[in-house]
Amino acid sequence: MPAIKAVTVFGGASSGSSPVFREMATALGEQLARAGITVIFGGGSIGMMGAVADGALAAGGQVIGVIPDFLARREVAHTKVTEMIVTDSMHSRKRRMFDMSDAFVTLPGGLGTLDETFEMITWRQLDLHAKPLLVCDIEGWGTIFADMVDSYAEMGFVPAHARDFFEVLESVEAIVARLVELPVVETKTDSARL
Ligand code: AMP
Repeated sequence: MPAIKAVTVFGGASSGSSPVFREMATALGEQLARAGITVIFGGGSIGMMGAVADGALAAGGQVIGVIPDFLARREVAHTKVTEMIVTDSMHSRKRRMFDMSDAFVTLPGGLGTLDETFEMITWRQLDLHAKPLLVCDIEGWGTIFADMVDSYAEMGFVPAHARDFFEVLESVEAIVARLVELPVVETKTDSARL
């Protein structure tokens, strides 16, 4: 059973209102590196995403940034990553991240993080892939995320089975433990549809 080798981590360009957010982002990077899992991320050096990259690099891990050229200045492109892939658009960035990843992890973030996370969930809803998506419940962020989806399911807009498309786990340790036990799943469809 092939093990997960590369994970895209989504997370805020900000660090949030509590130091715990950034500490946990750094810890996730460190623990992914120690588990031998390559970190793919949005390429910025700021906020939660920068902290994940810094944590993984400090622990000797492989880190691949994927950033659109127009964002490289605004999000202060990380200069110490193993590899930086520069794309021509937000869409090609998402596509590259998707193609390279065996799974996705969402850390707390804002609207950009929600956009990226929901895109992976909605592609799954359209049966375009079956890659796992794990949401880390730091300071209640993941609970709020799941509650929103559950509420929309109760209103009849989100199918009940959509709740199976992501898992909310209570800690960074639980996220890494889950990734280590998950098998790599084949992408079910021609990714040209994405
Ligand atoms: P945020 O969670 O709002 O801090 O955004 C985190 C990152 O998501 C941003 O730094 C962007 O690189 C990325 N992102 C991806 N898609 C979008 C989008 N549609 N709007 C804004 N940011 C996005």
